[in-house]
Amino acid sequence: MIIVLKPGASKKEIKHIEDKIRALGLKPMLSSGKERTIIGVIGEEDIARVQPFEAFPGVESVMPIQKPYKFVSKEFHKEPSIIKVAPGVEVGGEKVIVMAGPCTVENKERLFKIANIVKKSGAKVLRGGAFKPRTSPYSFQGLRDKGMKFLYDAKKAAGIPIVTEIMDPRDLPLFLKYADIIQVGARNMQNFELLKELGKTRKPILLKRGMANTIKDFLLSAEYIFSEGNHNVILCERGIRTFEDSTRFTLDISAVPVIKKLSHLPVVIDPSHCSGIWDYVAPLSKAAVAVGADGLIIEVHDDPEQALCDGPQALKPSKFDALMTELKLIAKAVGRSI
Ligand code: PEP
Ligand code: MN
Repeated sequence: MIIVLKPGASKKEIKHIEDKIRALGLKPMLSSGKERTIIGVIGEEDIARVQPFEAFPGVESVMPIQKPYKFVSKEFHKEPSIIKVAPGVEVGGEKVIVMAGPCTVENKERLFKIANIVKKSGAKVLRGGAFKPRTSPYSFQGLRDKGMKFLYDAKKAAGIPIVTEIMDPRDLPLFLKYADIIQVGARNMQNFELLKELGKTRKPILLKRGMANTIKDFLLSAEYIFSEGNHNVILCERGIRTFEDSTRFTLDISAVPVIKKLSHLPVVIDPSHCSGIWDYVAPLSKAAVAVGADGLIIEVHDDPEQALCDGPQALKPSKFDALMTELKLIAKAVGRSI
């Protein structure tokens, strides 16, 4: 349920409404937008209905939310959400944010090198996994704690915020200390306990779509994070499983306009994991910007042949640089900039 407040509703009136919601065993969630301030009611809709909130001072109207996801829906928040990542870096605004870097942190020198390369080409966030979700237990699992420290050092040295993947809520203190954006990988999109823990923080979360999940499932996972109070969620479409086997996954490009219609959250595209092949990364990135994505997350490696993970999909620095130049033109054509 959404309680829409009158433009001049006082603090006392708002508090009175919030207290009543709590007294019903439900949770109020205040959202102040440009046009209106609203209180979302978290919990069973039927319980909320016993109270005639329409009659409360300061209330303009009361609306049930029809969608199964509530606080990530456009009904709750009409304007697009802008997620602040670091000073001067926000996702969901006019600027298309490119995040780039290796699949995994391999060693300090290489990470520093790639951080400087991608930053010079215009990336605003450095990506790199320290904890890797590998299909085989015998594949490289990541440098773990040491990798997190290297990412933090690279961030300080190159002056670029970092995004890195969490798999286990027990590692949360490490991520809160070092990461600017915490990534939830496709394989953990429905790890609800992890989502709830991340919801208790206020860190920006990059939530990747599970490879076998619908957009509705995806938005419900974002709702888990929201329902615990963290509104800093960035969605990432990274390809879904289809019968098509010429690419690693199939990029669901329609996810961008569909999500934009249903939700106020920003959407970025991962052209690397959906295709699995470096040669397709540039055309898919261009399509992503053209279709209205708020950002990209791209794998870049200075020597893909030697990469410990996902070498075949990594862009070499020169190719990444050329792509950034092309993306600027496309961004301009759709009223954005990079
Ligand atoms: C990644 O971005 O490092 C990754 C493992 O991606 P995904 O979860 O989309 O497979
Ligand atoms: Mn990868």
